Amino acid sequence: MAVDFLIVGGGMAGASAGYFLAEHGRVVLLEREEAPGYHSTGRSAALYTETYGNAAIRALTVSSGSFLRDPPKGFTDHPLLTPRGSMVVAPASEEKNYRAALAEGQRYVKSVRGLSVDEAMALCPALRREKVGYAFLEPDAMDMDVHAIHQGFLRGLRARGGEIVSSAEVTALARRGALWEASTPAGRWEAPLVIDAAGAWADKVARLAGVREVGLVPKRRTAFTIDPPAAYDTTGWPMVSDIEETLYFKPESGRLLVSPADQTPIEPCDVQPEEIDVAEAADRLQAKTHIEVRRVLRRWAGLRSFVRDKTPVVGPAPDAPGFFWLAGQGGYGIMTSPAMGRLTAALATGAPVPAELTRLGLAAAHILPNRLLA
Ligand SMILES: Cc1cc2nc3c(=O)[nH]c(=O)nc-3n(C[C@H](O)[C@H](O)[C@H](O)COP(=O)(O)OP(=O)(O)OC[C@H]3O[C@@H](n4cnc5c(N)ncnc54)[C@H](O)[C@@H]3O)c2cc1C
Repeated sequence: MAVDFLIVGGGMAGASAGYFLAEHGRVVLLEREEAPGYHSTGRSAALYTETYGNAAIRALTVSSGSFLRDPPKGFTDHPLLTPRGSMVVAPASEEKNYRAALAEGQRYVKSVRGLSVDEAMALCPALRREKVGYAFLEPDAMDMDVHAIHQGFLRGLRARGGEIVSSAEVTALARRGALWEASTPAGRWEAPLVIDAAGAWADKVARLAGVREVGLVPKRRTAFTIDPPAAYDTTGWPMVSDIEETLYFKPESGRLLVSPADQTPIEPCDVQPEEIDVAEAADRLQAKTHIEVRRVLRRWAGLRSFVRDKTPVVGPAPDAPGFFWLAGQGGYGIMTSPAMGRLTAALATGAPVPAELTRLGLAAAHILPNRLLA
């Protein structure tokens, strides 16, 4: 069957691109798994933070904020964002790093502010006071309802006439005349434009099509949940991260989510947590706080995929007409998804980078794939 846009991958990237592209033509989204959120999208820490990542990421995040705060009518029946806050804690020995990180945070987000040790302890009384030299807070960081965002995009895609085909791994991609033909166990589809939104597998999909790879490196990140410590009411705690990026924790559905902030390069796969990473996070948590890890309730790992400049890859492949990259979302793919979807729809239909993103400092040169292929 021939359509206008074929999307490979139904995680947050493919879903948001499909949602916005469906305004311009007929979309078919092909997803290998039975459930489209099975990989990275279903395994995140669900935080929206405007101080995370490089300047391009921050522009994409800030631009996504208005959509997430005030989604279009019918997108969801409950809030996509709820207040959380994000606090970074540094030991006294890290003053220089702390000052640099605070200044960098304030450059983009005016509400970011330094805290006294007493203020930091009041926000998370379980911290070991002697380990806190400095702290700053991003008060407007938010918890995201990842499932509602993902489902909102998928529902909207269908409502605009698009189709989602699960259990449809693209096993071959061939250019025939002006069309790409995608073969899957669920059937064959053709379109003049194919969007590679295959997450950690995006380079693999490019290889199938004979397109030059962009050098994507998937990195494993581990997370687990524990019972909240009985001595504290954790519900209002912000996400707490150490400045060394070796630990973060935050309240999550009545539990505490903990991560060692690991980033181990690994081949794309259905990644599972390693015992050593869970044990290291538990040790660090116990060293920096009075929280005891007695029992791990649930553990998981997911892939955060980066190219060398840690900026997403969005745009047409210079070496293959009709092949469009949407990859390298790293640790930011949920909170940037509305802007990434809009950007994809613009570039895939021949329009320029949306003005709102340009105003925020994002230029085509930051995200186009040719920057990686020179
Ligand atoms: C522990 C952890 C914490 C994170 N925390 C945050 C956070 O707080 N905030 C944030 O914004 N981001 C966070 N992220 C990052 C975020 O989860 C990712 O950037 C995002 O989910 C990437 O979405 P994606 O659609 O590119 O990838 P995926 O969700 O992995 O989707 C890619 C899809 O492509 C499919 N696919 C692959 N090959 C084929 C093929 N040949 N044919 C058909 N389908 C195919 C796969 O089955 C998969 O469903 C975190 C990630 C991890 C692991």
